[in-house]
Amino acid sequence: MKQLPKYFLVYLFAILGLSAKAQGIYKKITSYRAYYGWAKHYPQDWMILRQFVNDGKTYLLLVNPQTLETKIDEPGFYAIKQMTIDEARAFFKSTPYVKALQKAEKQSVNMQDAGIESGMPKQTGISLTADLCPSRKPLDRRIFNSIITEFKKVEQPVPIALSVTGIWMRQHPQDLEWLKELQDKHEIFITWINHSFNHRVSLKLPLKENFLLEAGTNINYEVLETEMAMLKNGLMPSVFFRFPGLVSDQKLVYQITDFGLIPIGTDAWLAKGQQPQAGSIVLIHGNGNEPVGVTDFIRLLKAKTQSIARKQWLLYDLRESVDEEFQGE
Ligand SMILES: [Zn+2]
Repeated sequence: MKQLPKYFLVYLFAILGLSAKAQGIYKKITSYRAYYGWAKHYPQDWMILRQFVNDGKTYLLLVNPQTLETKIDEPGFYAIKQMTIDEARAFFKSTPYVKALQKAEKQSVNMQDAGIESGMPKQTGISLTADLCPSRKPLDRRIFNSIITEFKKVEQPVPIALSVTGIWMRQHPQDLEWLKELQDKHEIFITWINHSFNHRVSLKLPLKENFLLEAGTNINYEVLETEMAMLKNGLMPSVFFRFPGLVSDQKLVYQITDFGLIPIGTDAWLAKGQQPQAGSIVLIHGNGNEPVGVTDFIRLLKAKTQSIARKQWLLYDLRESVDEEFQGE
Protein backbone atom coordinates (compact mmCIF):
# COMPACT_ATOMS: atom_id res chain seq x y z
CA MET A 1 0.00 0.00 0.00
CA LYS A 2 2.91 2.26 0.74
CA GLN A 3 3.77 2.24 -2.97
CA LEU A 4 0.44 3.66 -4.03
CA PRO A 5 1.19 7.36 -3.81
CA LYS A 6 4.36 6.85 -5.86
CA TYR A 7 2.51 5.03 -8.64
CA PHE A 8 -0.16 7.64 -8.46
CA LEU A 9 2.46 10.34 -9.00
CA VAL A 10 3.96 8.52 -11.97
CA TYR A 11 0.48 8.18 -13.41
CA LEU A 12 -0.24 11.84 -12.77
CA PHE A 13 2.96 12.94 -14.50
CA ALA A 14 2.14 10.72 -17.45
CA ILE A 15 -1.21 12.45 -17.81
CA LEU A 16 0.38 15.88 -17.40
CA GLY A 17 2.96 14.99 -20.00
CA LEU A 18 0.29 13.93 -22.45
CA SER A 19 -1.85 16.98 -21.89
CA ALA A 20 1.18 19.23 -22.23
CA LYS A 21 1.74 17.77 -25.69
CA ALA A 22 -1.92 18.03 -26.67
CA GLN A 23 -1.82 21.64 -25.50
CA GLY A 24 0.37 22.48 -28.47
CA ILE A 25 -2.62 22.88 -30.75
CA TYR A 26 -5.31 25.46 -30.07
CA LYS A 27 -8.17 24.86 -32.47
CA LYS A 28 -10.89 26.90 -30.80
CA ILE A 29 -9.28 30.26 -30.12
CA THR A 30 -11.49 33.21 -29.27
CA SER A 31 -10.71 36.70 -27.91
CA TYR A 32 -7.11 36.67 -29.15
CA ARG A 33 -5.57 40.01 -28.18
CA ALA A 34 -2.43 41.97 -27.37
CA TYR A 35 -2.09 41.99 -23.60
CA TYR A 36 1.10 43.05 -21.85
CA GLY A 37 2.49 42.65 -18.40
CA TRP A 38 4.72 40.80 -15.99
CA ALA A 39 4.22 37.14 -15.13
CA LYS A 40 6.31 35.94 -12.24
CA HIS A 41 6.93 32.33 -11.35
CA TYR A 42 10.02 32.15 -9.18
CA PRO A 43 12.83 32.23 -10.23
CA GLN A 44 11.89 33.36 -13.75
CA ASP A 45 10.19 36.58 -14.86
CA TRP A 46 8.27 36.45 -18.12
CA MET A 47 6.80 39.26 -20.15
CA ILE A 48 3.20 38.71 -21.23
CA LEU A 49 2.49 39.49 -24.91
CA ARG A 50 -0.95 38.03 -25.67
CA GLN A 51 -3.99 36.60 -24.00
CA PHE A 52 -6.56 34.29 -25.55
CA VAL A 53 -9.30 31.85 -24.74
CA ASN A 54 -9.32 28.32 -26.14
CA ASP A 55 -12.30 26.10 -25.52
CA GLY A 56 -13.32 28.19 -22.52
CA LYS A 57 -9.87 28.30 -20.92
CA THR A 58 -7.60 31.38 -20.72
CA TYR A 59 -3.97 31.26 -21.90
CA LEU A 60 -1.05 33.65 -22.16
CA LEU A 61 1.72 33.93 -24.74
CA LEU A 62 4.88 34.68 -22.78
CA VAL A 63 8.46 35.61 -23.66
CA ASN A 64 11.51 35.02 -21.52
CA PRO A 65 13.15 38.44 -21.97
CA GLN A 66 16.60 36.98 -21.25
CA THR A 67 16.56 34.24 -23.91
CA LEU A 68 13.72 35.33 -26.30
CA GLU A 69 12.15 31.90 -25.79
CA THR A 70 8.34 31.98 -26.07
CA LYS A 71 5.71 29.69 -24.64
CA ILE A 72 2.01 29.36 -23.95
CA ASP A 73 0.87 28.86 -20.40
CA GLU A 74 -2.09 29.22 -18.10
CA PRO A 75 -2.21 32.38 -15.96
CA GLY A 76 -2.83 30.38 -12.78
CA PHE A 77 0.86 29.39 -12.51
CA TYR A 78 2.01 33.02 -12.16
CA ALA A 79 1.70 36.19 -10.16
CA ILE A 80 0.49 38.57 -12.85
CA LYS A 81 0.62 42.32 -13.23
CA GLN A 82 -1.00 43.78 -16.33
CA MET A 83 0.82 46.76 -17.88
CA THR A 84 0.81 48.84 -21.06
CA ILE A 85 3.47 47.89 -23.60
CA ASP A 86 5.46 51.00 -22.59
CA GLU A 87 5.28 50.10 -18.89
CA ALA A 88 6.31 46.52 -19.61
CA ARG A 89 9.24 47.69 -21.77
CA ALA A 90 10.35 50.08 -19.02
CA PHE A 91 10.09 47.29 -16.46
CA PHE A 92 12.21 44.91 -18.58
CA LYS A 93 14.45 47.62 -20.06
CA SER A 94 17.76 46.00 -19.14
CA THR A 95 16.93 42.69 -20.86
CA PRO A 96 18.22 41.52 -24.27
CA TYR A 97 14.63 41.36 -25.55
CA VAL A 98 13.85 45.05 -24.92
CA LYS A 99 17.31 46.09 -26.15
CA ALA A 100 16.67 44.22 -29.41
CA LEU A 101 13.33 46.07 -29.83
CA GLN A 102 15.16 49.38 -29.31
CA LYS A 103 17.86 48.48 -31.81
CA ALA A 104 15.25 47.58 -34.43
CA GLU A 105 13.56 50.94 -33.85
CA LYS A 106 16.86 52.76 -34.33
CA GLN A 107 17.18 51.06 -37.72
CA SER A 108 13.67 51.98 -38.82
CA VAL A 109 14.22 54.83 -41.27
CA ASN A 110 15.18 52.83 -44.36
CA MET A 111 12.36 51.84 -46.66
CA GLN A 112 14.00 48.44 -47.19
CA ASP A 113 15.54 46.02 -44.78
CA ALA A 114 14.72 47.82 -41.53
CA GLY A 115 15.26 46.10 -38.20
CA ILE A 116 17.97 43.71 -37.13
CA GLU A 117 19.89 42.41 -40.12
CA SER A 118 22.82 40.52 -38.65
CA GLY A 119 23.88 38.60 -35.60
CA MET A 120 27.28 38.57 -33.98
CA PRO A 121 30.33 38.79 -36.24
CA LYS A 122 32.20 36.62 -33.74
CA GLN A 123 29.93 33.74 -34.73
CA THR A 124 31.51 31.27 -37.08
CA GLY A 125 28.51 30.62 -39.21
CA ILE A 126 25.16 32.18 -40.00
CA SER A 127 21.51 32.24 -39.00
CA LEU A 128 19.37 30.80 -41.77
CA THR A 129 15.95 32.30 -42.47
CA ALA A 130 13.64 31.02 -45.20
CA ASP A 131 10.49 32.89 -46.19
CA LEU A 132 7.18 31.18 -46.85
CA CYS A 133 5.33 33.86 -48.78
CA PRO A 134 2.05 32.79 -50.46
CA SER A 135 2.85 30.43 -53.36
CA ARG A 136 1.15 27.70 -55.37
CA LYS A 137 4.43 25.83 -55.60
CA PRO A 138 5.29 23.17 -53.03
CA LEU A 139 7.78 23.75 -50.21
CA ASP A 140 11.39 23.62 -51.42
CA ARG A 141 12.35 20.56 -49.38
CA ARG A 142 15.95 20.61 -50.66
CA ILE A 143 16.73 23.21 -47.97
CA PHE A 144 15.75 20.90 -45.13
CA ASN A 145 17.17 17.71 -46.58
CA SER A 146 20.52 19.37 -47.21
CA ILE A 147 20.93 21.01 -43.79
CA ILE A 148 19.92 17.77 -42.04
CA THR A 149 22.47 15.82 -44.10
CA GLU A 150 25.33 18.31 -43.75
CA PHE A 151 24.89 18.92 -40.04
CA LYS A 152 23.92 15.41 -38.99
CA LYS A 153 27.12 14.79 -37.05
CA VAL A 154 27.64 18.28 -35.61
CA GLU A 155 24.29 19.93 -34.90
CA GLN A 156 21.07 18.17 -34.07
CA PRO A 157 18.44 19.50 -34.28
CA VAL A 158 19.58 22.01 -36.91
CA PRO A 159 18.16 25.48 -36.20
CA ILE A 160 16.27 27.30 -38.95
CA ALA A 161 13.90 30.26 -38.82
CA LEU A 162 10.88 30.21 -41.12
CA SER A 163 8.94 33.38 -41.92
CA VAL A 164 5.44 32.17 -42.48
CA THR A 165 2.32 33.84 -43.86
CA GLY A 166 -1.26 32.96 -42.99
CA ILE A 167 -2.01 32.24 -46.63
CA TRP A 168 0.91 29.81 -46.99
CA MET A 169 -0.27 27.84 -43.93
CA ARG A 170 -3.73 27.61 -45.50
CA GLN A 171 -2.31 26.55 -48.90
CA HIS A 172 0.16 23.94 -47.67
CA PRO A 173 -1.18 21.76 -44.84
CA GLN A 174 0.88 18.75 -45.97
CA ASP A 175 4.14 20.67 -46.18
CA LEU A 176 3.40 22.05 -42.74
CA GLU A 177 2.86 18.54 -41.37
CA TRP A 178 6.13 17.43 -42.93
CA LEU A 179 7.99 20.30 -41.21
CA LYS A 180 6.37 19.49 -37.88
CA GLU A 181 7.42 15.84 -38.24
CA LEU A 182 11.04 16.89 -38.82
CA GLN A 183 10.79 18.99 -35.69
CA ASP A 184 9.18 16.16 -33.68
CA LYS A 185 12.03 13.87 -34.77
CA HIS A 186 14.50 16.54 -33.52
CA GLU A 187 16.09 16.82 -36.94
CA ILE A 188 15.39 20.55 -37.15
CA PHE A 189 14.35 23.23 -34.68
CA ILE A 190 12.13 25.90 -36.21
CA THR A 191 11.77 29.46 -34.97
CA TRP A 192 8.53 30.71 -36.51
CA ILE A 193 8.70 34.32 -37.72
CA ASN A 194 5.49 36.24 -38.43
CA HIS A 195 5.54 37.29 -42.12
CA SER A 196 2.00 38.82 -42.12
CA PHE A 197 -1.20 37.04 -43.06
CA ASN A 198 -1.92 38.20 -46.61
CA HIS A 199 1.49 39.42 -47.83
CA ARG A 200 -0.16 41.65 -50.42
CA VAL A 201 2.12 42.87 -53.21
CA SER A 202 1.53 45.01 -56.26
CA LEU A 203 3.62 44.94 -59.43
CA LYS A 204 2.76 48.57 -60.16
CA LEU A 205 2.82 50.49 -56.90
CA PRO A 206 5.98 52.27 -55.69
CA LEU A 207 7.62 50.76 -52.58
CA LYS A 208 6.26 53.43 -50.26
CA GLU A 209 2.70 52.31 -51.11
CA ASN A 210 3.45 48.61 -51.53
CA PHE A 211 3.35 45.48 -49.37
CA LEU A 212 2.21 46.41 -45.83
CA LEU A 213 2.35 50.10 -46.81
CA GLU A 214 -0.48 49.57 -49.32
CA ALA A 215 -3.63 51.58 -48.57
CA GLY A 216 -6.26 49.67 -46.63
CA THR A 217 -3.82 47.36 -44.81
CA ASN A 218 -5.07 46.29 -41.39
CA ILE A 219 -1.94 45.76 -39.29
CA ASN A 220 -3.86 44.31 -36.37
CA TYR A 221 -5.24 41.63 -38.63
CA GLU A 222 -1.92 40.96 -40.37
CA VAL A 223 -0.12 40.42 -37.06
CA LEU A 224 -2.68 38.77 -34.80
CA GLU A 225 -4.45 36.60 -37.38
CA THR A 226 -1.09 35.08 -38.38
CA GLU A 227 -0.25 34.26 -34.76
CA MET A 228 -3.66 32.69 -34.30
CA ALA A 229 -3.19 30.59 -37.44
CA MET A 230 0.20 29.45 -36.07
CA LEU A 231 -1.37 28.36 -32.80
CA LYS A 232 -4.24 26.58 -34.58
CA ASN A 233 -1.62 24.69 -36.59
CA GLY A 234 0.43 23.79 -33.51
CA LEU A 235 3.27 26.26 -34.18
CA MET A 236 4.77 28.46 -31.45
CA PRO A 237 4.90 32.15 -32.43
CA SER A 238 8.28 33.78 -31.76
CA VAL A 239 8.94 37.48 -31.04
CA PHE A 240 10.18 38.04 -34.59
CA PHE A 241 8.53 39.70 -37.58
CA ARG A 242 9.73 39.91 -41.16
CA PHE A 243 8.25 42.59 -43.41
CA PRO A 244 6.87 41.29 -46.72
CA GLY A 245 9.29 42.46 -49.43
CA LEU A 246 11.46 43.72 -46.53
CA VAL A 247 9.55 46.98 -47.07
CA SER A 248 8.50 49.26 -44.22
CA ASP A 249 8.59 52.86 -43.05
CA GLN A 250 9.32 54.24 -39.61
CA LYS A 251 5.68 54.37 -38.56
CA LEU A 252 5.19 50.72 -39.54
CA VAL A 253 8.30 49.62 -37.62
CA TYR A 254 6.89 51.25 -34.48
CA GLN A 255 3.50 49.62 -35.08
CA ILE A 256 5.25 46.25 -35.13
CA THR A 257 7.42 46.90 -32.06
CA ASP A 258 4.23 48.04 -30.28
CA PHE A 259 3.09 44.42 -30.66
CA GLY A 260 6.31 43.40 -28.91
CA LEU A 261 7.74 42.02 -32.17
CA ILE A 262 11.32 42.51 -33.40
CA PRO A 263 11.65 43.19 -37.16
CA ILE A 264 14.27 40.92 -38.74
CA GLY A 265 15.97 42.03 -41.95
CA THR A 266 18.85 40.35 -43.77
CA ASP A 267 22.37 41.24 -44.81
CA ALA A 268 22.65 38.28 -47.19
CA TRP A 269 19.73 37.75 -49.57
CA LEU A 270 21.44 35.02 -51.59
CA ALA A 271 19.30 35.26 -54.74
CA LYS A 272 20.29 38.94 -54.95
CA GLY A 273 23.97 38.03 -54.92
CA GLN A 274 24.64 39.26 -51.37
CA GLN A 275 27.44 37.21 -49.82
CA PRO A 276 27.09 35.93 -46.26
CA GLN A 277 29.64 36.99 -43.65
CA ALA A 278 30.28 35.56 -40.20
CA GLY A 279 27.12 36.23 -38.19
CA SER A 280 24.95 37.01 -41.22
CA ILE A 281 21.20 36.58 -41.19
CA VAL A 282 20.85 34.78 -44.50
CA LEU A 283 17.61 34.98 -46.50
CA ILE A 284 16.40 32.36 -48.95
CA HIS A 285 12.87 31.53 -50.06
CA GLY A 286 11.37 28.22 -49.07
CA ASN A 287 8.16 28.62 -51.02
CA GLY A 288 9.49 27.35 -54.34
CA ASN A 289 9.54 30.82 -55.94
CA GLU A 290 13.27 31.43 -55.74
CA PRO A 291 15.05 28.15 -56.50
CA VAL A 292 18.26 29.98 -57.45
CA GLY A 293 18.72 31.23 -53.87
CA VAL A 294 18.26 27.70 -52.53
CA THR A 295 20.75 26.34 -55.05
CA ASP A 296 23.24 29.02 -53.95
CA PHE A 297 22.69 28.04 -50.35
CA ILE A 298 23.29 24.35 -51.07
CA ARG A 299 26.46 25.28 -52.96
CA LEU A 300 27.57 27.29 -49.92
CA LEU A 301 26.91 24.31 -47.64
CA LYS A 302 28.95 22.03 -49.89
CA ALA A 303 31.83 24.51 -49.88
CA LYS A 304 31.73 24.53 -46.09
CA THR A 305 31.63 20.75 -45.59
CA GLN A 306 35.13 20.61 -44.05
CA SER A 307 34.51 23.57 -41.75
CA ILE A 308 31.15 22.12 -40.70
CA ALA A 309 32.79 18.82 -39.78
CA ARG A 310 35.31 20.73 -37.61
CA LYS A 311 32.43 22.81 -36.13
CA GLN A 312 34.00 25.92 -37.56
CA TRP A 313 30.93 26.83 -39.56
CA LEU A 314 27.54 26.32 -37.93
CA LEU A 315 23.93 27.35 -38.18
CA TYR A 316 22.79 29.52 -35.28
CA ASP A 317 19.44 29.73 -33.58
CA LEU A 318 18.10 33.18 -34.51
CA ARG A 319 16.96 33.75 -30.94
CA GLU A 320 20.50 33.25 -29.66
CA SER A 321 22.03 35.35 -32.43
CA VAL A 322 19.83 38.33 -31.58
CA ASP A 323 20.03 37.66 -27.87
CA GLU A 324 23.80 37.28 -27.51
CA GLU A 325 24.45 40.73 -28.83
CA PHE A 326 22.73 42.22 -25.79
CA GLN A 327 23.88 39.80 -23.12
CA GLY A 328 25.86 41.34 -20.29
CA GLU A 329 25.54 44.86 -21.69
ZN1 LIG B 1 7.77 37.27 -48.38
